[in-house]
Amino acid sequence: MLPGSPFLHRDAAGSLHLEALELNELASRFGTPLYVYSRSAMQAAVAAYQRALAGRQHLICYAMKANANLAVLQTFAQAGCGFDIVSGGELARVLAAGGSADKVVFSGVGKTRAEMAQALEAGVRCFNVESIPELAVLDEVARAHGVRAPVSLRVNPDVDPKTHPYISTGLKGNKFGIAHSEALVTYQRAAELQSLHITGIDCHIGSQITEVSPYQDALDRVLDLVEALEAQGLSIHHLDLGGGLGITYTDETPPTPEQLLAPLLARIDARGHSQREIVLEPGRSLVGNAGVMLTEVLFLKPGEQKSFCIVDAGMNDLMRPAMYEATMGIVACQTNTEKAKTAHTWDVVGPVCESGDWLGRDRDLAVAPGDRLAVLSAGAYGMSMASNYNARGRAAEVMVEGDQARLIRERESVSDLYRLEKRWD
Ligand SMILES: *Cc1c(COP(=O)(O)O)cnc(C)c1O
Repeated sequence: MLPGSPFLHRDAAGSLHLEALELNELASRFGTPLYVYSRSAMQAAVAAYQRALAGRQHLICYAMKANANLAVLQTFAQAGCGFDIVSGGELARVLAAGGSADKVVFSGVGKTRAEMAQALEAGVRCFNVESIPELAVLDEVARAHGVRAPVSLRVNPDVDPKTHPYISTGLKGNKFGIAHSEALVTYQRAAELQSLHITGIDCHIGSQITEVSPYQDALDRVLDLVEALEAQGLSIHHLDLGGGLGITYTDETPPTPEQLLAPLLARIDARGHSQREIVLEPGRSLVGNAGVMLTEVLFLKPGEQKSFCIVDAGMNDLMRPAMYEATMGIVACQTNTEKAKTAHTWDVVGPVCESGDWLGRDRDLAVAPGDRLAVLSAGAYGMSMASNYNARGRAAEVMVEGDQARLIRERESVSDLYRLEKRWD
């Protein structure tokens, strides 16, 4: 009935729970809008990847842009994960959460010299380099620090991940990665640079991918390159297949990590690469279904063409519907009450002054003002993409485990929002 997490369930009295906690009660205790994450769901998601990779040298680097709260990072660090970062700020967060730099891979097309220096000083495991100019700058920065920078090249395998164009990254004409046809010369270039040290190869073809075949195609393209590189005397230690595995928002049926990895590992073995270390960079699939966002119904506004259910969370709190026209499940936190409710087809919209400010369209819900709704599968790219548009403080975040709930980020106050600004006096 509820898509996503086995840790989300409704009891006989109609009350929605995450682990043993009643979400309506958490909304009363911590206020709304509120993100709530299940720690057990995150641990279970990592364990599924770990089982699928058992017996192989591997590293699961959580792509922390999906959700970068320190308690979330700490949960993954304690589970043995490394991290895929895309900025110096993310590196600082990993360290603050107790993660170790030697399990960090640094991705991204636009690393600054300062970020490269910071990552070299911290001792990250690898830079995922995306262009020849970046190689040259990294070589200079490493030389200035008297170290050799560990490098993997992010190659663009030119496969269609069959996902939303905004979240597909492995096609030609995309800003990410080094074109497949240029990969060999770029590796040669990297090998000539004295302050670089080649450690691996990586690709990341997109996000919310619900089929195995694009991964299989990408893997074959990457293995072709590895074989060509080794034939030229370059040694490639690790194989980083990126992230991108999709989750169930409504009716998607993505493969499990086991269903994704079994055929990929079989292919790796069949082509004689069993000894290679496997690195993965999952983001969404580790946290997406571990979280919900709670919001309170403010007003109902039935109309001739459209009827609106106006809630206290907007596109600034949860951007995915506005940005990608993403469909996310929306359900009442409490059903079966005595209170009179209006059953109707509603557009669930926020208070932000934009027509694009919606959380869900044409939803059949029985609601009354004051009710709380839960937007499901909101653990990934929810809070991490939130903004302060319309001078709205960002939501609070709570993590639950069993019957325990802890505030892991306070609600932002308005004075937090203008703390760094100056009046013209
Ligand atoms: C965003 C990103 C990921 C994670 O993608 P998900 O779809 O969240 O799994 C992994 N690697 C890189 C380089 C990314 O940019």
